[in-house]
Amino acid sequence: MSKILQEVLAANQNYAARFDKGGLALPPARRFAILTCMDARLDPAKYAGLSEGDAHVIRNAGGRASDDAIRSLVISHKLLGTHEWFVIHHTDCGMELFNNDIMADLLSKSLDTATIDEHGWHDVGAGPGSAEGRYINWLTIKNQAESVTEDVRRIRAHALVPKHIPIYGFVYDVKSGKLVEVPEAINAGRAI
Ligand code: ZN
Repeated sequence: MSKILQEVLAANQNYAARFDKGGLALPPARRFAILTCMDARLDPAKYAGLSEGDAHVIRNAGGRASDDAIRSLVISHKLLGTHEWFVIHHTDCGMELFNNDIMADLLSKSLDTATIDEHGWHDVGAGPGSAEGRYINWLTIKNQAESVTEDVRRIRAHALVPKHIPIYGFVYDVKSGKLVEVPEAINAGRAI
């Protein structure tokens, strides 16, 4: 058994031994949802003060408003009653370090983990790679304030999203732990 697998199972035993949340209802008690990045430094439960059962947290690379993120948000409201949404991108996001062409090129040569230095990304692993990387929009980020505003706009304009849901756009600062409001995004996400 891998070390990580052992550690996770041991941690879960401790968690379950003290678990007292078995009676929670399925719909989020505080009726809101957060879309944010999968970055390991971000802990939405801590930075937004969540307990089990409080809110939906939808995570992907970048916290982008992909079709699948919107699928989850629509379920979150339509079936589970959330009525305020946050889109939270963050400083120093890995999604700023590449673009669609770089990713497709890397994957075309090798599927192994690449490395990055001051000259950019390099494949150090073995082939073969795959051309499939060309067919994915990786939704990379150039500027967090712009990406969060773009995503709030996309969600706001979506045909399946009711106009009365406010969508708040923020950038989380990985150095300070603070949520920094993005005025253009807040504006774009206002409930109508
Ligand atoms: Zn990120």
